[in-house]
Amino acid sequence: MAATQTAASPLRLGTPVQDLPGVGDRRAQLYTRLGIHTVSDLIRHLPTRYEQQWDECPIDDLPMNQVGTTRAMIVATRVVSGRHHRGVKPRFEATLEDHSGRLTAVWFNGLYLQEKLHPGLSVRIQGKTIAYRGQPKIVNPKWEALQDPDKTPTRAGRLRPVYPATEELSTHTIERLIKQTLPRVLGLVTDPVPPCLLEPHGMPPLPDAFKMAHQPADMAQATAARQRLAYNELLLLQLGIAAKRSYNQTRLEAPPLRWSPAIDQHIRQRFPFQLTDAQEKVVREITGDLRRDHPMNRLLQGDVGSGKTVVALYALLLAVANRKQGALMAPTELLAEQHFQSISAMLKGSNVKLALLTGGQGTSRGTHRAAMVKRIEHGQVDIVIGTQALLTESVMFKDLAVAVIDEQHRFGVLQRAAFRSRPTPGTPGSGGEAGKVSSRPSGPLDRQPSPHYLVMTATPIPRSLSLTLFGDLDVSTITGLPPGRTPITTRLVKPDQADRVYTHLAQRVARGEQAYVVVPAIDGDETASLLDQDKPTATRGNAANQLKSVRAHARWLADKYLPDHRVSAIHGKLKPQTRDSIMQKFRAGQTHVLVATTVIEVGVDVPNATMMVVEHAERFGLAQLHQLRGRIGRGTEGQRSVCVFIADATTEDATQRLEAIANTADGFKIAERDLAIRGMGDFFGTRQHGMPPLRVARIPDDMKLLKRTRDDAQGVIDDDPTLSKPGHTLLRKLLIQQYGDALGLIDVG
Ligand code: ADP
Ligand code: MG
Repeated sequence: MAATQTAASPLRLGTPVQDLPGVGDRRAQLYTRLGIHTVSDLIRHLPTRYEQQWDECPIDDLPMNQVGTTRAMIVATRVVSGRHHRGVKPRFEATLEDHSGRLTAVWFNGLYLQEKLHPGLSVRIQGKTIAYRGQPKIVNPKWEALQDPDKTPTRAGRLRPVYPATEELSTHTIERLIKQTLPRVLGLVTDPVPPCLLEPHGMPPLPDAFKMAHQPADMAQATAARQRLAYNELLLLQLGIAAKRSYNQTRLEAPPLRWSPAIDQHIRQRFPFQLTDAQEKVVREITGDLRRDHPMNRLLQGDVGSGKTVVALYALLLAVANRKQGALMAPTELLAEQHFQSISAMLKGSNVKLALLTGGQGTSRGTHRAAMVKRIEHGQVDIVIGTQALLTESVMFKDLAVAVIDEQHRFGVLQRAAFRSRPTPGTPGSGGEAGKVSSRPSGPLDRQPSPHYLVMTATPIPRSLSLTLFGDLDVSTITGLPPGRTPITTRLVKPDQADRVYTHLAQRVARGEQAYVVVPAIDGDETASLLDQDKPTATRGNAANQLKSVRAHARWLADKYLPDHRVSAIHGKLKPQTRDSIMQKFRAGQTHVLVATTVIEVGVDVPNATMMVVEHAERFGLAQLHQLRGRIGRGTEGQRSVCVFIADATTEDATQRLEAIANTADGFKIAERDLAIRGMGDFFGTRQHGMPPLRVARIPDDMKLLKRTRDDAQGVIDDDPTLSKPGHTLLRKLLIQQYGDALGLIDVG
C-alpha cells in the first residue's frame, strides 16, 4: 500500500495534506475546499458531533424492525425503475452475503449508488431490517466501504466522530486520514499555554485534547477535549484584550484634563435640560477618565434616544475648557450633520468654534474644505464634527484631546480610528501635549501621545459580547430614556392587514403627524416579492430594483392612501446631498411620509414622526428592528407613537424573534435574545468587525469558560505585560500573528 512507502518520512505540522499517503492532487483539492491545507489544519478539523457505533452482528442475527449493523460482501446489484403512474419510486438494490446468510439492501431514489456500490465490495451496513413483500430487507441503510474487511469489528459502543464533510469527501474518508495521521504528529503539537494555567482547572495537555476530540472513549472525554480547545481560543482573545489594555495604560499618554466645579457649571449652562441620573453617572465616569494622563477608552452604550449626544458634548467641552480640541465622528454624513445641528443649537451664543467636515464636500466646496482643514490644524476650530473624512491624511489636529466615535461597531473592533495630530517640536516632557510625536527620536520606552477616546453605540451589547468584542474598553451604560417620552405601542400583523395599517397611517398624517415606512434593502440576486396583489409588480428584486421598490412603494402609498400629502423615498444609493435634502425636508415637515431602506436606522431625530411601518419585518435582525423602532416616540407632546411590523413569518425562528421584539422595549433584553438566536457570528458580522473567528468556542454558551480565560489572561499580563518571559514566547507569537502590532507587542522585548 502507499502508506508503507512514505510512512517513515518525517511529518511536520506544516506538511501539505497532499504529501500524506493516499492523498493525491485531486483529493488535496477537496480538502482545500474544507479549509484544510496542512497537517495542522487537518488535526484542527474537529468533529461537529459523534455517533454511537452499533454492535455488528452476522446477517442472520440482524433484529427485525430495529436498527442493526452488519458487515458483508456485495454479490449483486440492480436498478429497479419506478413507475410514476403507480407511485412506485425508482430504487437501487444490492444483495449482501456473509457466512450466515443473504440480505437485500434497498435504497429508494438511490440510483446515484450505481457508481459506488458494485459486486465484490465489502461494506459495513447500518439500518432497520423489515419484512418487505415477505422478504427481509434493510431499507435505506447507511453504508461505508471497508478497506480491510477481515479486521476484527470495531469495539462495540465506540463513539465515531462526524466531521464537516462534502459530497465528494465523506466524513469516513476524513476520519481515516486523521486516524492515520494523528499518532504521527501529536508529539509535535506544542502547547502555547503554560502548565501553571492548566493545572488548577484540571485540563488535559493539548496533544491529549486533540486525541480525545478525534477519538473519544466516551462523551465525557469529547466534552473535556472541546473545553480545552475552546479555552485556548478564548485565552488568546482575552490575552489580546488584556495586552491592549495594558499597552493603553502604560505606553500611551493622553493630556490630563482639568476639571473644576466652575468648569462643570459652565458646561452645563449649555444644556437645555437637566441630565438624568443615568447621564450624571456616566458623566462622572467619563470625567474621572479624562483627568488621568493615560487615554480614556470608554464605550458608552445606551438605547436609541437615551441621550448619549449630550454626554459626548460634555466630554468635548471639557477639552475645549482646557484649550484643546475635540472631534466627533459619525458613520454617515446625515448623522454628522444632525449632530452638527443639535450641537450648534446648544452652543449658540458661546465662543466655541464648531466645524463640520464630511467627505461629501465635493470640488465645488473644495476650497471651503481646504480652508477648514487649515483652521483645524492651526487650532482655530475647537470642535470638529464629521465622518471618516476626519481620518484622512490631510486632516491634522493642533491639539486633539477628546475623540468621540459614534456607532463604533461600524468602524471595527480592537482597532480604534486613528486621528492625526500635528507634531510640535516638543519641549521634552511637556505632558499633556497631544501633538508631541516623532519630532525627536523616540526610544522604545517613550509614551506615545494619544487623545482620549469615547465610543458610542446604540446597539446595546450583551454583556457576554462586551467582554469579548469590546473587552479592551471600559463600559458605561445609560439606562432608561429621558423624561417625558411616551411609550411606543408595537403591533405585529400579517401582510393581509396592510390596508388597515396604511388607512391608520393616513389618518395620522391627516392630523399633522409624520410617519416612516421601511422596506428591506434587496441585494444581490435574492428575490423578494415586496408587493402583494394590488401593488405594482416592478419590485421583484435585484440590485437595481431596490431603488425601484422603495420608489414604487412610495408612489403606491401616495396614490392609494395619501393623495393630498407628500411621500418621498430615500435609500442608500442616492447621493449624500440628495439624501440630506430629502431628510431635511422631512425634518422640516415639508414631506409627511418617508419610505426608506434602513438608511434611517441610526440616530435620525424627528420628534413629529409618530408612526413606523416595517414591511417584511421577518427579514430584519432583532437589533435592527429595535433601532428602527427607536426613530419614533421621540416627541414629548403626548402623541402616542405606534410601530407596526408587517411580517409573514414562515419559520419558527422568525416567529420567535418577532414576538420577542413586539413584547419588549428593552434593548438589552432584545440584544441578548438576538445573540442567543443568531449566535455571535451573525450578531455583528464578526468577520467585517475584525473579530478573530472562534472555531470551537461558542458564545454565549461558553460564558463561564470565557470569564475564566479573562481572569487567567489578566494574571498573565499583570505578571508579564509584553509576554517577554520565556514561558510566554509561543503565546506572544500567536498574538502577533493574529493582531499584528495593534497590541504594542512587536517593538518590545
Ligand atoms: P441617542 O442616545 O440616541 O443619541 P440623543 O442624544 O439623540 O439620543 O437624545 C435623544 C433626545 O433626547 C434628543 O432630542 C435630546 O435632546 C433629548 N434628551 C437627551 N437628554 C435629555 C434629558 N436629560 N432630558 C430631556 N431630554 C433629553
Ligand atoms: Mg445618537
